[in-house]
Amino acid sequence: MSHVKDIADDFLSLFLPHPCLSCGTHLVRGEEVLCTACLLDMARTDFHLRRGNMLEQAFWGRCPVERAAAFSIYNRGSRIRRLVHLLKYSGRKDIGFRLGTMYGSVLAESRFTDGMDMIIPVPLDPARERHRGYNQSRHVADGLASRCRMPVRSDILYRRGGSGSQTRRGRYERWENVEGLFAVMKPGDITGRHVLLVDDVITTGSTMEACVNALQAAGDVKVSVVALAAAQKLTV
Ligand SMILES: [Zn+2]
Repeated sequence: MSHVKDIADDFLSLFLPHPCLSCGTHLVRGEEVLCTACLLDMARTDFHLRRGNMLEQAFWGRCPVERAAAFSIYNRGSRIRRLVHLLKYSGRKDIGFRLGTMYGSVLAESRFTDGMDMIIPVPLDPARERHRGYNQSRHVADGLASRCRMPVRSDILYRRGGSGSQTRRGRYERWENVEGLFAVMKPGDITGRHVLLVDDVITTGSTMEACVNALQAAGDVKVSVVALAAAQKLTV
């Protein structure tokens, strides 16, 4: 049934103008996903243009990261925060794909993704994914891949169940909570490769850190990380 609905939605979208994801006004020619006003209003980082940017620095001393970038800044009241909430809690997985597509264009144009071999979405807690029905990072990854011409591999990084909620824990406790939570399958598929790890939001960096460490354990792997947004405290 949902498949039929997807086809109907695709068909309708050929004729109906897309509304801006954020404010709902009809997009005009040349606008994609967000209208120009919302795009200008959004706090964009341009981290992808700067090696050694603040987000990369946030990982220094924690785990080896080649490059790190986030499209926007995540804080109370920010436009991206509202969009990410819709993506995670209101079933709007299309927002992940559409924002991923937009950011994918930005990253591909700046050659940020040159030399990278595959995109790996950060896995969701299995119980949470069953409840939500999807992993939002996978949809962001699919959007990125549509512009960056890389395969999305969801069959490499696995998450063990039972982490509990992370939203109310401090950074150290979170790190303890996520360390050992991720495991790599088919390590031969990433050996000697440069992988792009993707999440919707980087809040403390501890989930990314645990994923990077799990991937690195496969040996001779370069890892870069991107997200739709990074918490402001990580970037100042
Ligand atoms: Zn708008």
